[in-house]
Amino acid sequence: MKLTILGCFSATPRKDTNPTAQVLEINNHLFLIDCGEGTQVELRRNKIKFARIKHIFISHLHGDHFFGLVGLISTFRLLTRETELHIHCPKGLKEVIIMQMKLADSWTNYPLIFHELTSDDSELIFEDEKVEVWTIPLDHRVYTNGFLFKEKEGERHLNMPAVIEANIDIAYYNKLKQGHDVLNNDGVLIDHKKVTSAPNPTKSYAFCSDTAYKESIVPIIKDVDVLYHESTFLDKHAHLAPKTKHSTAKEAAQIAKMANVKMLILGHYSTRYDDLNQFKLEAQTIFKAVKLAKDGKQFNFD
Ligand SMILES: [Zn+2]
Repeated sequence: MKLTILGCFSATPRKDTNPTAQVLEINNHLFLIDCGEGTQVELRRNKIKFARIKHIFISHLHGDHFFGLVGLISTFRLLTRETELHIHCPKGLKEVIIMQMKLADSWTNYPLIFHELTSDDSELIFEDEKVEVWTIPLDHRVYTNGFLFKEKEGERHLNMPAVIEANIDIAYYNKLKQGHDVLNNDGVLIDHKKVTSAPNPTKSYAFCSDTAYKESIVPIIKDVDVLYHESTFLDKHAHLAPKTKHSTAKEAAQIAKMANVKMLILGHYSTRYDDLNQFKLEAQTIFKAVKLAKDGKQFNFD
């Protein structure tokens, strides 16, 4: 699992900072999460192949999280993309994008499929044999979801010498890998745990931006490997957080602690701050394993 931060600041794009966008590589998928202005430039800068992006997840319809989308969709068209593009987003975004394409009379030549979200409960929105994606309902000024990306548990590994020793027919190997006990050639029931080892450990990533402090997300993100939680404000501006429905670094840390995550990444910093290290210091008064997002930074979690 690998995370590339394309942009991690709130509000406006600036000379050296970008609004929210990131790419999560998990089990051969490249998922684009949010698409602030300038995302396609940052994708190129970070040498991410456009064609590999098949799913885009948009948290909410504030401009700093989706103003790059219509440009990216248009560039895909100019690059003569043919593969499907799926957009998972709040209801309303389809109307915005269709209106822009209609006025420009520039329709995509590839299938553009919108999956519009309206539920206030966490729901499964993508699934294949290896990965699941769930929404994380957040508390912001407009309808907003975070996203939980989870690898599914794989098959158990056969311990071949033990399997042969136990005299098990090859026809039962798949059952063993799936965790079933099986009968051997002598009619004896063999405990699968004695002849297999545990599957590879799975990874999980939760993206939570934008949101006010919201404890009810804790059960959804419990024990994830990595939590990206917005921290728009430092403590000295904590009074602005409830009003704007954002969080402070300490509040992000409190959520990370309660959810028992392995690592917290902070981001969505207000552009009023010059010294980002202060976010880390404040968060670490509550939760130790904190990293700072930075535009262009890659996190490897293997
Ligand atoms: Zn917002």
